[in-house]
Amino acid sequence: MPELPEVEVTRLGITPHLEGKKVSAVKILDGRLRWPVPSSLPKILPGQKIRAIHRRGKYLLLELDTGHLLIHLGMTGTLRVLPSQEALKTHDRVTFEFNKLSLRLHDPRKFGAVLWHPKTKGPVENNLLLQKLGIEPFSPEFAGELGTDILYRSSRKRSVAVKQFLLAGQAVVGVGNIYCSESLFEAGIHPGKAAGKLTRPQCERLAAAVRLILKKAIDAGGSSLKDFVNSDGDPGHFMVQTKVYDRKGLPCKVCKTPITQIIQGQRSTYFCSQCQKR
Ligand SMILES: [Zn+2]
Repeated sequence: MPELPEVEVTRLGITPHLEGKKVSAVKILDGRLRWPVPSSLPKILPGQKIRAIHRRGKYLLLELDTGHLLIHLGMTGTLRVLPSQEALKTHDRVTFEFNKLSLRLHDPRKFGAVLWHPKTKGPVENNLLLQKLGIEPFSPEFAGELGTDILYRSSRKRSVAVKQFLLAGQAVVGVGNIYCSESLFEAGIHPGKAAGKLTRPQCERLAAAVRLILKKAIDAGGSSLKDFVNSDGDPGHFMVQTKVYDRKGLPCKVCKTPITQIIQGQRSTYFCSQCQKR
């Protein structure tokens, strides 16, 4: 599943090709995605310019003249910029045409989304899908002491395990399953610890770990940027070298204790029972 780093790398990959370009046509090949793709798009978008491409959580926000296009990659979606003459492929769902280029959403399992937020409905941040998202991990609001504050304040009185607290994304967005295990290891915190029992120094280490782990994943994806302009590119996951994730029974890279796997909320968590304390 594309996580925040993959979506951010997608944004970095497509932006230089599309910024300032005018949409010439939109074709909806199969609009039955997570929500129906608005059938009005082929009428509304042609003639409008892509002014900028932003990201909020795992949503790409394409800013056009009269509103924002929200694109989510769901479970299996990819976005690619291709020469327009390139043939469509099975599972291509929507194609946006720009003179000689196409932006294509390819989504075999159809959990992705393409939605339109017109300016007349107010700022895109007010969109119901974006409104309740946690803070962006790389925003000034999550930098330094502020990130510590957010984790500390939002976790008070929460009895849920810190792993699930992080994964829920209500405090800070983008910490998917792999990144949860890696961040908690980096911060030396046991994944089963009640979120409400985190100390302030632990919140400080965790906020720093989240920023570090996500930044590393985005940097690792940077090498795949060229893949956004060909149809076969598959950047996949960027966490090339995990310290605990998917390493059950293998020696901890710090203390050699075999890594433990547990299930929390039906998802796997990996940790070192020696390095990570409750
Ligand atoms: Zn260890």
